[in-house]
Amino acid sequence: MVKVLDIRKLEYFYYSQNSINTFIKCLFKFRLKYLENLSWKREGSVEENYYENIKQGLDFHLICERYFAGIPLGKLNDDDLVKKVNSLKDTFKIDKKNDYLVEYEVKMTKGAMRLQAKYDLIIVTPDKKIQIWDWKTENRKLSIEEMKKRIQTLVYMYVLSENVENMFGFECKKEDITMNFWQPQYENSIITIEYSKEAHIQNEKYLSKIIKNINSYDFYSANAKLYSSHCKFCEFNYLCNNQKIYEQ
Ligand code: SF4
Repeated sequence: MVKVLDIRKLEYFYYSQNSINTFIKCLFKFRLKYLENLSWKREGSVEENYYENIKQGLDFHLICERYFAGIPLGKLNDDDLVKKVNSLKDTFKIDKKNDYLVEYEVKMTKGAMRLQAKYDLIIVTPDKKIQIWDWKTENRKLSIEEMKKRIQTLVYMYVLSENVENMFGFECKKEDITMNFWQPQYENSIITIEYSKEAHIQNEKYLSKIIKNINSYDFYSANAKLYSSHCKFCEFNYLCNNQKIYEQ
């Protein structure tokens, strides 16, 4: 019998968009990742560029952090990255009247909900409007319909909205918060999602319910076969089905 540390019972464990997403997609994967602390390298022919893309995404996030913090960007050796950084500078002119919070992490507890969100960028304008920005470096163009449904959007807006006063020392209406996604390879295409009081109430109900569900779930009776539709995209495919991703 594998001995597990049940992270759900630890005070320092906060649910993130990633862990909630994992729970929704596959309970068995949640067990492997969060209860058994197992990680698995993706392998297969379709994965050849996977880690390269992740590295470039991380490099771009680092450049953004430096750009908005007003520190030197460093030397850029990769042509594709140079293009993205030029696009960043064209799209986002620094306005000294705004406040820029980069790579900003927020943790909160409310009832059963222990939640965390790490924001690529938060911009606070002088008229107390708050913009959450998230950089997406995948090549596929994203749509507003898709981004509205993402758990990330829900968690990020909810957590920020609950903590505005703690973070900035003023109150703001839900309608003054937006979540914005930008793909540097599609320079002029910004996706903006508006927030509202109604959306906040719905988000709280959803998050509270799903976290209670995770906290009480018996992961050792989960049947991995129920999640087979996600297996072909999952790094654990070799472990669960003895198949590499490209063999699907
Ligand atoms: S391979 Fe399939 S069953 Fe196994 S963890 Fe991934 S999604 Fe779940």
